Amino acid sequence: MVADPPKGNPKGSAAAESTENGAVALVPIEDPGASRGGCCSSRDQVRRCLRANLLVLLTVVAVVAGVALGLGLSQAGGAAALGPARLTAFAFPGEVLLRLLRMIILPLVVCSLVGGAASLDPSALGRLGAWALLFFLVTTLLASALGVGLALALQPGAALANINSLGGVTDAVKEAPSKEVLDSFLDLVRNIFPSNLVSAAFRSYTTFYKIGQFNGTQVKVPMGDEVDGMNILGLVVFAIVFGVALRKLGPEGELLIRFFNSFNDATMVLVSWIMWYAPVGILFLVAGKIVEMENVEMLFASLGKYILCCLLGHAIHGLLVLPLIYFLFTRKNPYRFLWGIMTALATAFGTSSSSATLPLMMKCVEERNGVSKQISRFILPIGATVNMDGAALFQCVAAVFIAQLNQRPLDFVKIITILVTATASSVGAAGIPAGGVLTLAIILEAVSLPVHDISLILAVDWLVDRSCTILNVEGDAFGAGLLQHYVDRTESQSSVPELIQMKSETPLAPLPSATEEGNPLLKHYPGPGGDADTCEKESVM
Ligand code: ASP
Repeated sequence: MVADPPKGNPKGSAAAESTENGAVALVPIEDPGASRGGCCSSRDQVRRCLRANLLVLLTVVAVVAGVALGLGLSQAGGAAALGPARLTAFAFPGEVLLRLLRMIILPLVVCSLVGGAASLDPSALGRLGAWALLFFLVTTLLASALGVGLALALQPGAALANINSLGGVTDAVKEAPSKEVLDSFLDLVRNIFPSNLVSAAFRSYTTFYKIGQFNGTQVKVPMGDEVDGMNILGLVVFAIVFGVALRKLGPEGELLIRFFNSFNDATMVLVSWIMWYAPVGILFLVAGKIVEMENVEMLFASLGKYILCCLLGHAIHGLLVLPLIYFLFTRKNPYRFLWGIMTALATAFGTSSSSATLPLMMKCVEERNGVSKQISRFILPIGATVNMDGAALFQCVAAVFIAQLNQRPLDFVKIITILVTATASSVGAAGIPAGGVLTLAIILEAVSLPVHDISLILAVDWLVDRSCTILNVEGDAFGAGLLQHYVDRTESQSSVPELIQMKSETPLAPLPSATEEGNPLLKHYPGPGGDADTCEKESVM
């Protein structure tokens, strides 16, 4: 659970524990019962521990119960027995969770990035951004290499015979449109610069083709149009640049910075309420998906090795590689860090969407893992948009799998091409369900593999995408944790805190109503003889 520290005690319970040692507090420190010496039985301790982790436990239980309920209903006839109307009603609580989370994404991403970029000194912003991007790049490349290595070792595409039996499944899946590699990258750049900010909130640009005549021959003519789907990349870039511009304005920009910070804080309060509904939503999302699936056994029999390869890769990267990197740099227990973000990971599993998980992830890393708001609210939206270790890994497995299916040998150059394009195309993948499958076409085109085989990948994407999303968001969270460590270390080495240097052109006079919660600019101004950093890691609520 994301414990809310008691009011009036800024370094409250769970957050205080995690801030000081980088780990997650399992037992609230200020629990009144804790100091009553001998009367504190182990039963009390267990109760306190349960209370402190209630939300995490509920979410994990919800995932397990969702799987059990889904399997139970499948046994009892599944979707066919329920009928479309009852199936929709059954999935409704999950749909509500998705709607709530999606509702929060836009204000959260824009306000947190404007506030985050405005609160950082441009040089600190550049340094933190560069470190974060380096971490994202290296870990995504590692994930890609792991995916290729596993697929080459386990040969998931070697069992060709079974694939024919998948006809019924693949026919049901719509074929993914094939897109030229160049056009995919041009679309990425176009989306970075949206032509209309309002439409970027719900539409993004994509290229499609019309067959036309050129010099008497038939050619594909690229056309472009806006399609449904938030252009989150464009919004992220705009919000960062806008935040930097506001800071540059000096006193004139101050009011707007406070506005964005207050908006962001209020949004986070909403998130903390939504979190308590998450277990219910997750249960029905997971159960509903399992009930919907037909031919589950056949899919596993035919594509089991591919699924295994992806899940194994995600497990190795998420449970060994990322934790090891975190441990090497911070010397802190990475599994306690993981426990701290368990609610967000379960939400990633339930929703298959990094964007939808973002609000809960912010809450978890700030309140349970001691990451400061400036860092989490700046880095996590960027990570949720561009850092997709899980997507890169499964795209590599899928590309090698399709090559094996079609008996196309992969030489060294092709393998490197897969690695590089998977890393790049994962940046362009949207943090939405099946976002990675759509950009898989880029990789297949780059190494001349048949794009129509994506239908096989789509057939099992409902499962692979879940572990993929967990890994995507886990990478972002570890990135935030590592940046926090970097900032803490820099601050302890120099007397000028990395995130503070707010001696900008504009000393800010605090507004009467401005709380510590609001503007990091205000928060960090040392008063006369005051401690600049006392509220750095406070909880939102
Ligand atoms: N569903 C993934 C996410 O939201 C994207 C993907 O399909 O790889 O992170």
